[in-house]
Amino acid sequence: MEKQQKMSLTAKVLLGMALGIAVGLVINMASLNAPGSFINDYIVNGLFLVVGKMFVNALKMLVVPLVFFSLICGVCGIGDIKMLGRVGGKAFALYMMTTAIAIATAIAIAATLGIGKGMNQTSDATFTGKEAPPLTQVFIDIIPQNPIHAMANGDMLPIIFFSILVGISLLLVGHKAKSFVEGAEIANEVMMKMVNIVMAVAPYAVFALIAKAVADLGIDLLASLAGYVLVLVGSLMVHLFITLMLVLKFFSGLSPLTFLKKIRNVQVFAFSTASSNATIPVTMKTVTDRFGVNNSVASFTVPFGATINMDGTAIMQGVATVFIANVYNVDLGIAGYLTVILMSVLASIGTAGVPGVGLIMLSMVFAQVGLPIEGIGLVLGVDRLMDMIRTAVNVSGDAVVSTVVAKSERKIDVSVFNDPDAGSIGPEDSLHIDSTVGAEMAEAIGATHDKK
Ligand code: ASP
Repeated sequence: MEKQQKMSLTAKVLLGMALGIAVGLVINMASLNAPGSFINDYIVNGLFLVVGKMFVNALKMLVVPLVFFSLICGVCGIGDIKMLGRVGGKAFALYMMTTAIAIATAIAIAATLGIGKGMNQTSDATFTGKEAPPLTQVFIDIIPQNPIHAMANGDMLPIIFFSILVGISLLLVGHKAKSFVEGAEIANEVMMKMVNIVMAVAPYAVFALIAKAVADLGIDLLASLAGYVLVLVGSLMVHLFITLMLVLKFFSGLSPLTFLKKIRNVQVFAFSTASSNATIPVTMKTVTDRFGVNNSVASFTVPFGATINMDGTAIMQGVATVFIANVYNVDLGIAGYLTVILMSVLASIGTAGVPGVGLIMLSMVFAQVGLPIEGIGLVLGVDRLMDMIRTAVNVSGDAVVSTVVAKSERKIDVSVFNDPDAGSIGPEDSLHIDSTVGAEMAEAIGATHDKK
């Protein structure tokens, strides 16, 4: 009975996803979502839209305080600044390495298959590129002028920087700061409980998000871009199931099968929100509770990865570059493709993991190698779905690197990783309020009043 309850959340989320796809497809295929129709106005763009957006907001609401408090606890938990530097260095190197391998593989697959050759370069859609920040500015902005501003904007790198600095300074202050650190520990626990509360409604929200995305999908577009879509999805799967799993096995010796089973929840969240950033709370929870990674590593590697690590996005850029170069009959040559690899890896550092950012990075890459930016219009129609799939790959990469780094630092509890049920708490278990707690809290508050 208890086990059944424990498994229920993952199962329910997967069920929500499957039902979302089914309902979305029915609405789409039967053209029930014609503009002005009841289904379009009140269900797809009413109920589904509202429920989905409220849920994404709820996840985003958790990100900044969760990262702030868990990083403070993480830094104080390590207590060793050298190790912090090592974790940062290893994570950065692995994130860059996997992203470079991802895009190189994608270019190789797409170029070998010659996608886009002989296609007509006409497209109704137009695309005007937005600017991605220059790399110099990215480095400058790591240090926030105003941490509150960075938090209000959700700018992850400056938030990480500030939180680590607070943690280090607390260690420097020493004994006097003990109650502050204990407070941060409690705040971190509170945030994790909030993650549980939000996750309890996830099955319904995932249903709404996916039903809307599938209902809105241009299925005819998907068919006309079948070559691009198939090569892209194929390359994403090669990276997820082969490259990342080889990296996991080779660097940590842990079981890829166990990893893949336990990461499913995170992938579904990433798929339905199309945002690595909004998925941070779920990634963090899974990496710590289900994989056994110590918070001192995960609190840093997860938000860091959500920002700088985008394997799936890099794969999209590789495939799109080959596709559009072929459609426009441009021969980029080896030097051109090497530039694409370098640009994508660098661009991933400065861009946040939010929906659609991959296209902004792509326009930056195109400008660099001289491909027509309006060519991006060709793949625009299918980008939302591709964004969902590549985001699932992005977050899987974050979890692989977090696990590998933790293993190398002996900051992982391997028995938790290997236990199939570890951390798979159902909402029923985690949202239970103890009957004595209310009275105790009231007493505590009364006592404070009395003191006054
Ligand atoms: N949506 C992706 C992410 O959040 C980024 C992208 O590829 O557009 O990771």
